[in-house]
Amino acid sequence: MDGKSNGITGTGVIAAFSLGMDMGIISAPKIKSPDHMINMQDGIYLSEKDITMIGKALGAFRAAYLTLAEEAEILLTDVDSTYMAGASGFYVDPHKSLDVGQIPPSSKDIYQLGNTSLAMASDIVMNPDLLGKLQEIAKSMRSKHIMLATSPIFEKIYSLELAMSEQGMPFWMYNDWLNKYGYQKVPPKVTDPQIHRIFERDIKELGNEGLKLVKIQSTLEAIFEGCTNCQTCANKCPECALKMENGKATVRTDLCNGMGCLKCELSCPEKVFKFGKFLSSMKEIYACG
Ligand code: SF4
Ligand code: SF4
Repeated sequence: MDGKSNGITGTGVIAAFSLGMDMGIISAPKIKSPDHMINMQDGIYLSEKDITMIGKALGAFRAAYLTLAEEAEILLTDVDSTYMAGASGFYVDPHKSLDVGQIPPSSKDIYQLGNTSLAMASDIVMNPDLLGKLQEIAKSMRSKHIMLATSPIFEKIYSLELAMSEQGMPFWMYNDWLNKYGYQKVPPKVTDPQIHRIFERDIKELGNEGLKLVKIQSTLEAIFEGCTNCQTCANKCPECALKMENGKATVRTDLCNGMGCLKCELSCPEKVFKFGKFLSSMKEIYACG
């Protein structure tokens, strides 16, 4: 690959984990290489600690679909289709997802749907009546949803996942324990799943035939008592979204990166800059209709 890598994406982690298991280098939580690491290009590596964390994360997927099947009283062997949505669902190789247990092993048909929220938003714009229908669906789901965090089934199954990822419990023992708890075993993995790639790209190209960017510009204002007008906050803003004039801050919402950034607030030497003040002024705008 050209260029220098700075890190590894979630998709890359799943690919490396799946390949490592296939080649017998990974036997979670151990890595059977001389330095107990998987070394990739540009100094990027996976350590045994990473393997444990990956096992825990992927284990949450398996424990989740097993819990859902148990709660819904269906057999995983009857779940033969899986729909993968969102950016990672689009870029992760479905074969590798199956290998690492991220999706049900009985998935004979795997559909890669791409960015479904974007597609849904575009459908609603074309047909506003859809919004009401979607709200009805959301309401009906709320009454039936299963909270994994409080599900005793999830708790038991996830404790088995922890035993595998942290202590190296073998998979056959995991299945035996499921049986002892009165739950179904994880069925064998299908060998030749059909992959249906519904979209060729996650997000369509910009341009005449693709997406158009619509920028909605508004400004929010806030007054900060005790401001010395030093301009540090405005100078630190990476997007040039912020103007400071004698204690009055104005931020352009089309440029500002929001709560994920907060360089303005963090840089204020007087500790008087409070980003939340913009948000409360936004609420007032909406409250006034
Ligand atoms: S949050 Fe970041 S982008 Fe937004 S005004 Fe503050 S520094 Fe600028
Ligand atoms: S950094 Fe703080 S004191 Fe300086 S202009 Fe911004 S709000 Fe005022």
